[in-house]
Amino acid sequence: MVTISVKFKLEFMKEQRQKVLYLAKRYRDAFNEVSEYAFNNRVFEHIGLHKALYYKLKEKYGFQSQIAISVIREVAQHYDSVFNQLAEKFNISKRNRKRLIELFYKEIGKPIRRRKLIVKLVKRRSYDLRLNPRVCSISAIGERLKKIPYYGWNKHYEYIEKYGYGDAILYYERSNKLWYLIVSVDVPDKKLKPKKVVGVDINEPSNSFVALHNSLGKSKLIEFSQQVLRLKSHYQKLRSQIQAKGTRSAKRRLLSLSGVEKRLVRNFLHIVAKKIVVENSPCVFGLEDLSGIREFRENNAKFKGEKRRLFSQWCFRELQTLIEYKAKLYGSKVIYVNSQYTSISCPVCGYTAKENRDGKEFECKNCGFKEHADIVGAKNIMLRVLKSLQNGAFVSRPNAPSPLGAVEQALPLKEVK
Ligand SMILES: [Zn+2]
Repeated sequence: MVTISVKFKLEFMKEQRQKVLYLAKRYRDAFNEVSEYAFNNRVFEHIGLHKALYYKLKEKYGFQSQIAISVIREVAQHYDSVFNQLAEKFNISKRNRKRLIELFYKEIGKPIRRRKLIVKLVKRRSYDLRLNPRVCSISAIGERLKKIPYYGWNKHYEYIEKYGYGDAILYYERSNKLWYLIVSVDVPDKKLKPKKVVGVDINEPSNSFVALHNSLGKSKLIEFSQQVLRLKSHYQKLRSQIQAKGTRSAKRRLLSLSGVEKRLVRNFLHIVAKKIVVENSPCVFGLEDLSGIREFRENNAKFKGEKRRLFSQWCFRELQTLIEYKAKLYGSKVIYVNSQYTSISCPVCGYTAKENRDGKEFECKNCGFKEHADIVGAKNIMLRVLKSLQNGAFVSRPNAPSPLGAVEQALPLKEVK
């Protein structure tokens, strides 16, 4: 089973809009209150929080039972994920809760806060979807908001018609002042076994936007469409105009690209993602970890302007999300790998230096290996995926001793540098 999420736009009637906004604000306030309680009382488990706050929340905020439960559960889940991150960062067992809590106070030292307007909705209890006509209902405070039309992609309607729907997230998008419902759908697995690895190197939207390299030795470049390139040059003009004006509001303006333009680019990204996924599935896709964006920016000499960077980052994230999403539907997997030096490291001899790369050309200064620079990126990503799969194969036998550990123990420590 693969859980995917489908996104719908909601259209509230005027008086419903105030009610849903009120619900979402109260939900956020309650979330922050529970979070603060957790922080002040060192109670982070769902059960403890529930005991202490469930009735209080219902009374104070007027929530329907399920909404109160969702608030508490969400807070507990958020702290859990922070603890898990700390466990990873400091290499501590996730079960060593006491130590993690100590670390949390030391490293973070303040309660989790939420600013966005998000409401977790549970199927049947706090919301319902109808297929014909396409309307939903949501439990607001003191009443159920009914007959709210929802709109989305045809494919998404098909999914819920075919497989039913699960819980959802209601959220408010500030940039366009719209409400969305993100519905989870359990789609049966394709039960396909990936037989190759494909490294996907996403670049600044220029001539070769995406480079692919698979473990069968084939490479491919995907070009940016003329339509989008035209759009890009339009942005550049717009950018220089905005740049002349000021900083903060300009930034914000660029982040919220106008609806039409955004849709155009998004549509293009959809096509690219689909092409990549359909042509290669079933496989394991290697994508660069998002934190790698920093390197992605620094290595690209052309890309200096902040605005340009924002646009590229947006494309980058969007395309990754789309690939990940579609991959699941086609029986493929996605693995994120560290993106450091993928573009300047030689896939043949391992020599890593900035000098290896000159724009779109890669020539290893150590062994002389030559290749299109983006293909080199895709190759390195593929190699890293293979490496992480090897490591994964070891830990997937939970009781077996780690072969790596055995090797380390066998080596005389002094000689290891
Ligand atoms: Zn080399």
